[in-house]
Formats: sequence, structure tokens, C-alpha cells
Amino acid sequence: MAVVHLLVDKSISPWKVRDLPIIGLKAGTTGHIEFERCRVARAHLFHADEAGYTQNLVVRGWARILLGAWAIGIMRAAIEDATRYVRERHAFGKPIAAHPMIQDMVARMHVDLETSRLLTYKAAWLMDQGVRCDLEQATAKLHACEVVKRVTNDAIQILGGRGLTTEEGYRTERLHRDARFLAVAEGTSQIMRLIIGRRLLGFSAL
Ligand SMILES: Cc1cc2nc3c(=O)[nH]c(=O)nc-3n(C[C@H](O)[C@H](O)[C@H](O)COP(=O)(O)OP(=O)(O)OC[C@H]3O[C@@H](n4cnc5c(N)ncnc54)[C@H](O)[C@@H]3O)c2cc1C
Repeated sequence: MAVVHLLVDKSISPWKVRDLPIIGLKAGTTGHIEFERCRVARAHLFHADEAGYTQNLVVRGWARILLGAWAIGIMRAAIEDATRYVRERHAFGKPIAAHPMIQDMVARMHVDLETSRLLTYKAAWLMDQGVRCDLEQATAKLHACEVVKRVTNDAIQILGGRGLTTEEGYRTERLHRDARFLAVAEGTSQIMRLIIGRRLLGFSAL
């Protein structure tokens, strides 16, 4: 597969940049770059050789593992909020931690966190061994970045009105908004499924 990196000289092909407000990640900015009738000088095309292509795969691989780790961090924070709250909050004469439906949600959150952690560690370990692991990277990224949505959603449910508030001192709704980005960036969940399918079945649907 050919990989071409290119430089767009703004004096030859001006591009437009505008802020793209999104629902999460408010600590940073997300930008939309628009190229129109873009012209690139031949001298500004850089064809990656075999080593460059491999390097590109390594960077993409680590990026997917990084997003898995990011999801794990968000899940940990959401579970921390939820478990603290259920011990403190009393309803119907006992801490809500003692209600079976709350325990059901907390148990599911815990399993989602632990499975994500194990899959992400496995992919990172394989990367460290220098072996091909696109299947494991995609599996970890897909799983962690999908279940984090459920975990943060359940954390909001557990915290009730406090889970929904944007008031200072509460972060659960922010965790949910931040989590939503993970299944889109660095290869969407659909693309991760296609990578997994290609490795398992030997046919590319891409
Ligand atoms: C906060 C944020 C930061 C980002 N940062 C960067 C960055 O730094 N650098 C960068 O290059 N990009 C960045 N991106 C872009 C990101 O990689 C893309 O948003 C992502 O790849 C999806 O592309 P798209 O938004 O054009 O969606 P589209 O390509 O329009 O896809 C729309 C939907 O169609 C699905 N789809 C597409 N093709 C298929 C298929 N073959 N089979 C099944 N479903 C399919 C997708 O999964 C998705 O659900 C960022 C995005 C966000 C939200």
C-alpha cells in the first residue's frame, strides 16, 4: 500500500480553518480545515518507503491503544463517582448501594472496565514485542471505546439529577460527553469491525 505525505503551501493553495464546536473535549479546540481546488507542488509530495509505511502503522497502532487507555481513564472516573455516591445516598431506608438494580449496573461497569483494561494491555504488550497486532489493537479500541459510552451513561443514571448537572463540582456529564468522541476518532467503531473482519475472514470489506 502506498502512503503519501504532502505539504500544502498556503501561498499557493490557501486553506480555510474554522473552529468546529463539539459536544465534548472542551479543554481543547477542534478545527475544520477546508481545502478547495488544492494544488500541491510535486516537490511537496513525500512517498513513504517501506520503513515509512511501517512507521505509519506503528504510530496508528499506538494511537488506537492510546484511545483504549483514554476510555479506561474515563471509565475509572465514572465508576469512582458512581460508587462514592451510592454509598452516601440513602433511599427507601438504606444506602442505594444496597439496592440490587444499582449493584447490577455497578457490576456491569466493572466488567466493562476490566475487559477493556485486559484487551488494551494485551495489545500494548504485543506492540512492545514488535509483533503484528492490528487485530488486537482494533479489538481493544473497539471494545473500550464502545463500552465507555454505556459506563458513563449508567454513571449518570446512578447519580440521578446530580449526574446531569453541569454545576461546578460535578463531572459525570462531562465524562459522558468526552467519551462520545472516542468511537469516532482514530478509526470509527465501524472501521475497527472491518479490520477485525478482514483479519478473521481473510476478505477485505474496505
Ligand atoms: C474531536 C476530533 C478530533 C479529531 N482529530 C483528528 C486529527 O487530529 N487528525 C485527523 O486526521 N482527523 C481527526 N479527526 C477526524 C476523525 O478521524 C474522523 O471524524 C473520523 O475518521 C470519521 O470520519 P468522518 O467524520 O469524515 O465521518 P465519515 O467518514 O463521514 O463517516 C460517517 C459514518 O460512516 C461510517 N462509515 C464510513 N465508511 C464506512 C464503511 N466502509 N463501512 C461502514 N461504515 C462506514 C463511519 O464509521 C461513520 O459512522 C478528529 C475528529 C474529532 C471528532
